[in-house]
Amino acid sequence: MALTRRGFLKACGASVAALGVGAKFAPPALEPGTRSVPKSPQKTNGVLIDTTKCVGCKQCQIACQKSKNLPADPKQVTLCAVSPSVVELRNISADPAKPEIKPIKRQCMNCVEPSCVSACTVGALQKTPEGPVIYDSNRCIGCRYCMYACPFGVPTFEWEKQFSLISKCDQCAERTQAGKLPACVEACPAKALTYGDRKELLTIANQRIYDGKGKYVEHIYGENEIGGTTMLYLASVPFEKLGFPTLPNEAPAEINATIMHSTPTVALGMAMALSGMYWLIRRRDELEAQPAYNHNEEGGH
Ligand code: SF4
Ligand code: SF4
Ligand code: SF4
Repeated sequence: MALTRRGFLKACGASVAALGVGAKFAPPALEPGTRSVPKSPQKTNGVLIDTTKCVGCKQCQIACQKSKNLPADPKQVTLCAVSPSVVELRNISADPAKPEIKPIKRQCMNCVEPSCVSACTVGALQKTPEGPVIYDSNRCIGCRYCMYACPFGVPTFEWEKQFSLISKCDQCAERTQAGKLPACVEACPAKALTYGDRKELLTIANQRIYDGKGKYVEHIYGENEIGGTTMLYLASVPFEKLGFPTLPNEAPAEINATIMHSTPTVALGMAMALSGMYWLIRRRDELEAQPAYNHNEEGGH
């Protein structure tokens, strides 16, 4: 059976859990002063995404890819290592004869207390006081802990590369520091995206729900989920229907910090061992898949 890198690592993760490796390396409690994620800042910026205004034109996706010097590909349909933001066209109808398409812009939620930051043992992901969660590829060792820690499935890697990099939304940190709007916000022709102070965005969102008189569900996604996110959503249907995970209000960041930061050597060793095993098995599969005449030719020399 063909082996994919994703399948391999998933299987290894399950095996590790089954063997109780986590229990064996049970970490001590965090010492005072251990690096952890900053608690909810007083003032932080964010983006309000009003899905009821979105027309699915994908101008935000194209602008995002361009601003990150990536090929602007409107056909990109899922978040991946080379696309920090995508617009998903989601059919929420149960009746195949009457599809109901809702466009949903997706990207990193730039969480207030991001679990990816606490999971990263080398500080490649950092939370900035202004709101963005930024990524430093020079520090990244490719261990993929951020991928398993993120409740939104945002960090993704190019699975075929042994050490590959992620490309996630950083809320256009460089642009906003220079006084510009995030590229997606600037590009949206439908004014579905609003950038600003997170508290003010919550006020705007609550006002829209109140004024809408039933147009919106009474839920601002990201207001409280896992300690809050700086990308906030409004919608006309329950968020589960739009594929958003139902999450608790507590941030898992501190739990991750306790586990990950007490075991950096184990983390790196595991990542390297898994990568090495993957390549060995992949090579075996490639050799087995070679046509028979290749083996015959080799045997003839
Ligand atoms: S959505 Fe995921 S990758 Fe983005 S900040 Fe939150 S935990 Fe990190
Ligand atoms: S804020 Fe910037 S990085 Fe994030 S989705 Fe918008 S354009 Fe892309
Ligand atoms: S640019 Fe605006 S309207 Fe177009 S897909 Fe993006 S969020 Fe929706």
